[in-house]
Amino acid sequence: MTRPVPKDWILGISPYVPGKSAADDGRPLVKLSANENPLGSSPLARAAFVAAAADLATYPDPSATALRKAIAAAHDLDPARVIYGTGSDELLHIAASAYAGPGDEILYVRYGFAVYDIAARRVGATPVIAPDADFATDVDALLACVTERTKVVFLANPNNPTGTMTSREDIARLHAGLRPDILFVLDQAYAEYLDAGEDDGGLELARSAPNVLVTRTFSKIFGLAAERIGWGYASAEVIDALHRIRAPFNVTTVGQAAAIAATADSEWVEQSRVHNRQWREWLASEIAALANHGLRAVPSKANFLLVLFDGALTAEAAMKGLWDEGFATRWLPGQGLPNGLRITIGTEAQMRAVAAKLRAMAEAA
Ligand SMILES: *Cc1c(COP(=O)(O)O)cnc(C)c1O
Repeated sequence: MTRPVPKDWILGISPYVPGKSAADDGRPLVKLSANENPLGSSPLARAAFVAAAADLATYPDPSATALRKAIAAAHDLDPARVIYGTGSDELLHIAASAYAGPGDEILYVRYGFAVYDIAARRVGATPVIAPDADFATDVDALLACVTERTKVVFLANPNNPTGTMTSREDIARLHAGLRPDILFVLDQAYAEYLDAGEDDGGLELARSAPNVLVTRTFSKIFGLAAERIGWGYASAEVIDALHRIRAPFNVTTVGQAAAIAATADSEWVEQSRVHNRQWREWLASEIAALANHGLRAVPSKANFLLVLFDGALTAEAAMKGLWDEGFATRWLPGQGLPNGLRITIGTEAQMRAVAAKLRAMAEAA
C-alpha cells in the first residue's frame, strides 16, 4: 500500500444528503426540506441561549446535569438514565457502535430514516432492510428478518420520510418478538407532534426493558436544530455503554441552556403542535383533491407529508416548479422514492402557496 486506504465498509457509505436551502442555480429558498419548526423557536429558549452566551470561555457541563434533570422531570424519568447527544444522530451512531460491528446485522424498515444505513455501515455491520407495508412498518416482516446476527433494530416512530405511525400494540408486539440481546432503538424525533392518546409507549418500555433505547430531539418541535441537541433513555447498562463512547462536552453551554428553557415552555410546544396538525390536515386534503392527477399523500403523524406523484406530473418536476415559487422540498430518489417529495409543514401562507402551485402544475401536466 502506498497510501492510507479507508475501510471498505466506509467507502460503501453514501453520505447523508441534507435538505436543500437553495435551488440548483444558487437562489435561496424557503426550507420545507428539513422538518424544522416554521414558527422558529421558543422565546424563552432564545433568551436562555443569549444569557448563556455570556460565558464562552468555559467548557460546557460535561454531565449536562441541569438538562438531564429538566428532561427527567418533564417525562417522569430517572435523570441518571438520561443521555444527551450532539443531536439524536450522535445517539443513533453510538448505539450502533456499542452493540454492533463487522459480521453483525442492523435491521430497519425500507423507507426508514437515512441515518440508519450510515450508522450501520460506519461500524462495519451489515444493514438489513425489511419490506414495508404501503410505506408503513410491517412488524411481522421486520421480525421475519431477524437472524442470529441481528444486534440492533432501528425504528423511527413516526417515521421519516413516510410520516407513518406504528401503533402502541405493534411496538409492544415487535419488542416482545425480539430476542432480549437485541438493542431496540425507538427513534421518537417527532413524538411531540402526536395528539393525546397516540403515544407509542416507548418511554414506558424503556423504563423497564433492558434492551430498549428511546431517542428524542430538540431539533424538530422545539425549534433548536441549530444547536444540535438530542437525548435518550434506556437501562443503566445501555446508558453506561453509550457514555463510554459519546464525545466529551457533546452538548454546548448555550445549547444546554436553550434546551432547558424549551423543555419548560409547554405553551410553545402546544402552539406548534396545533399549528402543525391544522396545516398538515389542510395540505393533505388539498393533495387528496388532486388524486385524479396521480398525487397521493401518505397518512402522516409528523410535521411533513410524503407526496407520491404517479401521474403526468413527476416528483422531480414538482420539486423544480416549487423552486420557482421559492420553496425547497425534499425529493427522495436516493431513498428509493423517485416518485416521492417530502414537504415540511410550514406557515399558512407557505402551505397555501405550495398547494396552489401543485394544483397548477398537476392541471397543466
Ligand atoms: C430529524 C430526525 C432526527 C434527529 O436529528 P437530530 O437533529 O440529530 O436530533 C432523528 N431521527 C429522525 C427520524 C429524524 O427525522
